[in-house]
Order: sequence, then structure tokens, then C-alpha cells
Amino acid sequence: MKRVTILGVSFSKLNMEETLNKLTNVVASDSNKPYHVITANPEIVVGADQDPDLKQITDQADLITPDGIGIVIASRWQGDPVAERVAGYDLLLNLLERGNELGWSFFFLGTSEEANQEATAIIHERYPNLIIAGRHHGFFKDKEAELIEQINEARPDVLVVALGAPRQEQWIFKQKENLHTKIAIGVGGSLDVIAG
Ligand code: UDP
Repeated sequence: MKRVTILGVSFSKLNMEETLNKLTNVVASDSNKPYHVITANPEIVVGADQDPDLKQITDQADLITPDGIGIVIASRWQGDPVAERVAGYDLLLNLLERGNELGWSFFFLGTSEEANQEATAIIHERYPNLIIAGRHHGFFKDKEAELIEQINEARPDVLVVALGAPRQEQWIFKQKENLHTKIAIGVGGSLDVIAG
């Protein structure tokens, strides 16, 4: 896959449609370890430049998309432009759309119990053919083992993690070996936006 490196972070040069097609292939594969998608904004890039732990996470992610015009502009300055902005919220909506067409299952993790419930109900109404395999709010602290068990029993195609950046990236990285899901993607405050 073609990539461009900005401040040490290796961005995908796929446009939104190509990104979706790539992720569709991942869902169709028989993998049961999460393919880690980061939609990285400038804060993540600067963070990875300054924090070796975050750098390790971005180095080991499977796909990093340019979230924000700042990344697009930086890639142009380098003379090696990314295709277009592929932001977390937009990618999530496109994944829900694709999942609705193809009957994928999703697990929605993160935000408050109320917003998580509301967002999940709205998603169910708007995308009736996708499967909501499970959901959980984002304040699980010492209940992490139970949460992992719940996710693995649900065996979602896509684990949507809305814990904010970079907490969601750190959490996915830490739990990567324990999670049985095809894709894990951090979406920041996107479930709050859907909940309205
Ligand atoms: N959050 C969470 N668990 C935590 C801390 C935060 O679920 O332990 C949620 C919070 O409720 C909010 C989201 O993470 O829904 C953070 O959204 P924010 O807009 O700060 O993230 P960004 O889009 O900037 O990454």
C-alpha cells in the first residue's frame, strides 16, 4: 500500500472509497486479530513525535488515515500528497453504510451510557441491516476483563472505540492480542455526534 510519512507517522494514500474497499477485504478475510485503524489528526502526529509510546502505537497500526486538512496540506508541502482527507466521523458513517449493505456486525464501545445507548438506537434505525453485536459505555476502569469477554463473545466484524484520542489508540494497542474482531477503529467523539 502506498504511504507518505509525516513527522514519522506513515499515512495511507488511499482515498475514502479505496479505504472502504480495503476494510471490506479485511472484513471478508478470516483474520480474528484486530486490524488497527487510526484516523490521525495533527495532535496524534505531534504526540507520536514527542512520546515514544505513542510512536510505537502508530508504527504498529495497520492503517493510518489523514484526519484533517492539516495533514493533507503537510503532505502537499512534502511534495507527496495523500489522496484526500479521511476523517474519523466520515469513515465511521461510510463503514456503517457499507456494513448495512453487507450485513456486518459492530460493537460500539465508549462515551457515556446514555449517549452510547442513544447513538446505538439511532444507528439501528438508520442502518437496519447491520448487526449490533454489542455495546458498552467508555468508563469501565476495573471491569476491563469482563468487557473484553463481552466483546469476544459478540465477535464483531468492527469494534468502534469512542474513548477520545489518544486514549482509544492506547487501549486498542494494549488489548490487541486479546480482542477477537476483524477491525478496531478509534472514532473520538463520533458517537456523541450521532447521539446529538
Ligand atoms: N470517554 C470515554 N471514556 C473515558 C474518557 C472519555 O468513553 O475514559 C469518551 C467521552 O465521553 C467522549 C469521548 O471519549 O465521548 C472523547 O471525545 P473527544 O471529543 O474528547 O475526542 P476526540 O474526538 O477529540 O478524539
